[in-house]
Amino acid sequence: MTDRIIAAEVILTSPGRNYVTLKLQTADGLVGYGDATVNGRELAVASYLRDHVVPLLTGLDPARIEDTWQYLYRGAYWRRGPITMAAISAVDLALWDIKGKAAGMPVYQLLGGAVRDRVLAYTHASAWELPELLDEVDARREEGFRAVRAQSGVPGLETVYGVHREAAGYEPAKRGAAPVVESWDTDSYLRHVPSVLAAVREHVGPELALLHDAHHRLTPQQAARLGKALEPADLFWLEDVTPAENQDALRLVRQHTTTPLAIGEVFNSIYDCKDLITGQLIDYIRVAVAHAGGISHLRSIFALAAVYQVKAAPHGPSDVSPVSFGASVHLGLSTHNFGIQEYMGYDALAHEVFPHAWSFSDGYLHPGEAPGLGVEVDEALAAKFPYEPAYLPVARRLDGSVTDW
Ligand SMILES: [Mg+2]
Repeated sequence: MTDRIIAAEVILTSPGRNYVTLKLQTADGLVGYGDATVNGRELAVASYLRDHVVPLLTGLDPARIEDTWQYLYRGAYWRRGPITMAAISAVDLALWDIKGKAAGMPVYQLLGGAVRDRVLAYTHASAWELPELLDEVDARREEGFRAVRAQSGVPGLETVYGVHREAAGYEPAKRGAAPVVESWDTDSYLRHVPSVLAAVREHVGPELALLHDAHHRLTPQQAARLGKALEPADLFWLEDVTPAENQDALRLVRQHTTTPLAIGEVFNSIYDCKDLITGQLIDYIRVAVAHAGGISHLRSIFALAAVYQVKAAPHGPSDVSPVSFGASVHLGLSTHNFGIQEYMGYDALAHEVFPHAWSFSDGYLHPGEAPGLGVEVDEALAAKFPYEPAYLPVARRLDGSVTDW
């Protein structure tokens, strides 16, 4: 192998929202792309890449994906954390992209080939009031989705996670120099949400997979209560019931409910997932390919999960770029214990800036047959949409104290 990485570059672009992309070029003329977007902290990871990773990459053998991963992970000394792991993810994805292009194969073939014909997807439906929520769920079913996450407004609150009041649809990251402050009251939420999901289940019948996200806001006891209260709605999963930093807390939740649990979208390494998986405290592990060390590290996490019959279900909001979304679909097609892929969808501009081979139809995703990850970057178009500061909201309780958003 005489091929070497001859150039590495960070591309910041904002087609509808901010994305951080790493571009690697080889002496043989191949180009690989990776995603390092960390919503609201884009410049930190761009600097990590530009200042501390890009200078190390020139001259490396692009075929040595695992060695490069270990070099960046162990070589940093300060291991793990969202910024470090997103940067490593981007390098990992770009190297898998190059390996696929060098082989003339889609990445899923390099991962062992397809174990299924297509990857089940779920999307979001939300509305402030129940009648509109039922209409939204119906609209998602008409688009072909067989699995839908349902979120509704809460009486007495002005803002609720996952629910939009404006017609433009839900996009939590708002442009501006500081985060929007939302208000939150868990008691009001707990009083309201079981009746909403019961009504949605009654409306859609037994077959549609229904999901709901509590977005890290409950104590273990509240989570146990909610899981139990939602059992008649037969959820596919209840997501992020607690922040899960206290992983033992999930034991209490498990003792009280059979509602399936999904956690992990903010995790960035196998060590964040280990206790939840080996303790069989969750049913789905939600690490994102852009945030937890790329394809290479997600394969380790998913292999550990398989031992405990935990399924993979990666985070797929609009803030993971179409590059890492495509990588996630390659993993989905080739990972036996893959459960479902979140597909929030993208602004039309993001589809143009990142032309991709992956596709959605009839409720399922497929990564396509293009060599590599199958996602390119229209750099001229990307340059027309420069980075703009944008932040996820923060939440305060009704007494003014900060709580988990
Ligand atoms: Mg979530």
